[in-house]
Amino acid sequence: MSARILVVDDILPNVKLLEAKLTSEYYTVLTATSGEEALAKVQADSPDIILLDVMMPGMDGFEVCRRIKADPARAHIPVVMVTALTDASDKVRGLQAGADDFLSKPVNDIALMARVRSLVRLKMTIDEWRVRENTASQLGVTDEQATPMNESVERAHILVVEDQDFEIDKMDSIFKQDSDTLVVAKTGMQAMEEISKNVFDLLIISLNLRGEDGLRLCSHLRSNERTRSTPILMLATEDDMPRVAHGLEIGAHDYILRPLDRNEILARVRSQIRRKRFQDRLRSNYEISLSMALTDSLTGLYNRRYMEVHLQKLLQKNLEHNKALCVIMLDIDHFKSVNDTHGHGVGDQVLKTFADRLKDNLRSFDLVARMGGEEFVCILPEVTIEMAHIVAERLRHAIADKPFVCNTDSGLLSITTSLGAAIIQGESNQTVHSILERADKCLYEAKHGGRNCTVFEGIGKLDPEKFIQISRPTLE
Ligand code: GH3
Ligand code: MG
Ligand code: MG
Repeated sequence: MSARILVVDDILPNVKLLEAKLTSEYYTVLTATSGEEALAKVQADSPDIILLDVMMPGMDGFEVCRRIKADPARAHIPVVMVTALTDASDKVRGLQAGADDFLSKPVNDIALMARVRSLVRLKMTIDEWRVRENTASQLGVTDEQATPMNESVERAHILVVEDQDFEIDKMDSIFKQDSDTLVVAKTGMQAMEEISKNVFDLLIISLNLRGEDGLRLCSHLRSNERTRSTPILMLATEDDMPRVAHGLEIGAHDYILRPLDRNEILARVRSQIRRKRFQDRLRSNYEISLSMALTDSLTGLYNRRYMEVHLQKLLQKNLEHNKALCVIMLDIDHFKSVNDTHGHGVGDQVLKTFADRLKDNLRSFDLVARMGGEEFVCILPEVTIEMAHIVAERLRHAIADKPFVCNTDSGLLSITTSLGAAIIQGESNQTVHSILERADKCLYEAKHGGRNCTVFEGIGKLDPEKFIQISRPTLE
C-alpha cells in the first residue's frame, strides 16, 4: 500500500531525515519548506497524509492545518503535527485546529511508522466512502458534502475499560463537559458484555489492566462484528511505547500517555468521535443512494436497472435447472386519461396502489419492478405454464375487480391493465433484451385485443372464463 506523504518543515535536514525514513518503507514522499508551499502542494497533489512542523517562520503549522481543514475538498486528509513542543496546551491547540495526530521531535521510528500506517488505513477507508458519496451527490441524493469538521462531537457513548478508580473519576468529570455517556468496564469480560448490549462511539482501553492484556482486548474488538468500525483509544504509560505501536498496527486509532492531561484527552476523544461520525455519515449517504439507485421512489418497487441485472442472473440459473421462468409485462389501460381528467396527483396514487396490488398477489421470491411510466414487469422464477396463466389472470383481476381509492369526486376510480407474457425454458440464446421484447409484443397484442386481458406468447389471449374460479385475487 504505497501512500503519498507530504513532509513539511522549514529546516531542510529535518525534511531529509523524515523523507529517508519514509522512502525506505516504500512511501512516496513530497516535501515543502514553508506553510505557503505546503498549502500549494496540498492543493496540487492532494497527498494521503501530511506531516506538519509546528514552528515555522511566516505561516506556522497551526494556521496551515486550520486552512486545510477549512477546505471541504481537503479536510479529510489526515494531518500529523510534528513538534518539539511537549507542552500539552500546544497539542490541544493543534487538535483544535483539526490535526489528527502528534509526533514529538526527535521522531521515534516505531511511533512514526505505526501512526503513518494507521492513518494510511484510515485515509483509504475514507477515500473509498468519498468516491461512493460522490456518486451519490451526482445522482442528486445528497446535496451536502460531508466534512469531518462539521460533525458534532457531543453526546457520545463511550466505553472505558480501566480498573484504576482515580482515572475513571477523572474521565467521568472530563466528559461531562460534552454531555457524553460513560460506561465503565473493569475487565475484558465486562467490556464484552457491555458491547453486546450497547452501541458505542468510542472505546477507551487501558493497556495497564491488572492480570489482563489490554492489547488482546483491542485485537478482539477489531475483529468483532459489532465493534469493527468503532475507534479505539489506548491509555498507556511511556514504558508501553512498543505495545502502543503494536496496538496501532492491529487497528487501534490513537493513544494517550499517563498522566492523563484533561485537555489532551478531551481533544483526542473529540477528534475520534468527529471522525467516526463523519465515516458513519459517508456510509449512510451511500446506503441511501444505493437504495435510491435501485428502487423507484414513487412506488418503492425495484427499478428497471435492478430488474435487468436480476433477470440476467435468473436466465443463467434457468439454463442450469431447466425449470420455466415467466416474464409478464403490464401496462395500465388509458392511464393518460386518468392524468388528464383527475390530475397528475391522482395518477400517482393509482400507480402506488397498482404497485401494492401486484406485490400482494405474488410470491415473496417473485420480482416486480416499475419499468417507467405506467409500465411494470413481474418475473416469476420456477413456475409451471399453468401456474403462470393463473398468476397473470389473478393479477389482472387484482386490478380490475376493485376500484382504486383516490382523490376523485367519488373517491374511487376503476382501473384495468393489459398483460403480455413469455415463458422461457431451456433456451440458451436469449438475452434480457430479447425476452422483454417478446413479452412486450404480447402486451401490444393485448392492447389491440381490447385491453383488460392477458396474452401469452404462442397461446394468444387467455380465456377469462377458464380462470374465473381459481384466479380470484386475495384482496381484502
Ligand atoms: P394505453 O391503454 O394504450 O396504455 O394508453 P395509456 O393512456 O395508458 O398510454 P400512454 O402511453 O399514451 O400514456 C401513459 C401516460 O402515463 C402518459 C404519462 O403522462 C403518464 N405517466 C408516466 N409516468 C407517470 C408518473 O410517474 N405519474 C403520473 N401521474 N403519470 C405518469
Ligand atoms: Mg398505458
Ligand atoms: Mg404506456
